[in-house]
Amino acid sequence: MTTIEGTRPDVVRTVKYPVYERFYTWQGEGVHLGRAAYFIRLYGCPQACPWCDSAGTWHKDYRPEGVTLMTAVDLATMVAQDSPDGAFVVITGGEPILFNLGPLVNELHALGRRVHIETSGIAELRGNIDWVTLSPKPFGTWPTPEVVARADEVKIIVHDVADIQAGLDTLTGLKPAAVIWLHPEWSKARERDAAVLNAITDAVKANPRLRAGYQMHKLYRADELDAHSDKRLIPLGGNTELGY
Ligand code: SF4
Repeated sequence: MTTIEGTRPDVVRTVKYPVYERFYTWQGEGVHLGRAAYFIRLYGCPQACPWCDSAGTWHKDYRPEGVTLMTAVDLATMVAQDSPDGAFVVITGGEPILFNLGPLVNELHALGRRVHIETSGIAELRGNIDWVTLSPKPFGTWPTPEVVARADEVKIIVHDVADIQAGLDTLTGLKPAAVIWLHPEWSKARERDAAVLNAITDAVKANPRLRAGYQMHKLYRADELDAHSDKRLIPLGGNTELGY
């Protein structure tokens, strides 16, 4: 007997996901900005972005005190306990596409939850995900054509002005309805870096397909309010005062 996604029930019960962090908050970015959301942050990422704001999930010089291995059933139970019906679930990282998310997505769907993913799109997307946010990393491994074609929205992180075009260059095959956000990388946003912010403004005015974005949850410090969120400093992008 197999489930949808072709995964055997015994595998659903036994596959374990490395959970770096989990918390109930609201989505601070993108089309679903401001909506209540439960975040599951998985451990591991090969992209090594120099400004990564979740570098605790991969940095070679940083060993988290503990990464909890949890089954899909464990995680769904936790989501049901810690967030009300109607809150959707965001699977992020790290790079969550490295894992077979099928069993987890099926358990969350059984709860009635919609499931989103935030990914750089470097591998096969496994699982019947409801919403795909693609954040391409043009200086690292590019997203696969399959994930580009599947993306519902794109988030290009702009640390330098050239990042805008470099990110757009990775998006061949993107569906016309997909939204493309230009986000100032957080240190640039925090410092109100005029070169980056003005370049985003200019790009949006020149191409109405693009939208100017921001990480609103960092202004609210919303994620920190959940006792389960990780407040330890991380090697890159960390800020003692802001906690990011
Ligand atoms: S892809 Fe995401 S998690 Fe991985 S290093 Fe880059 S910003 Fe960090």
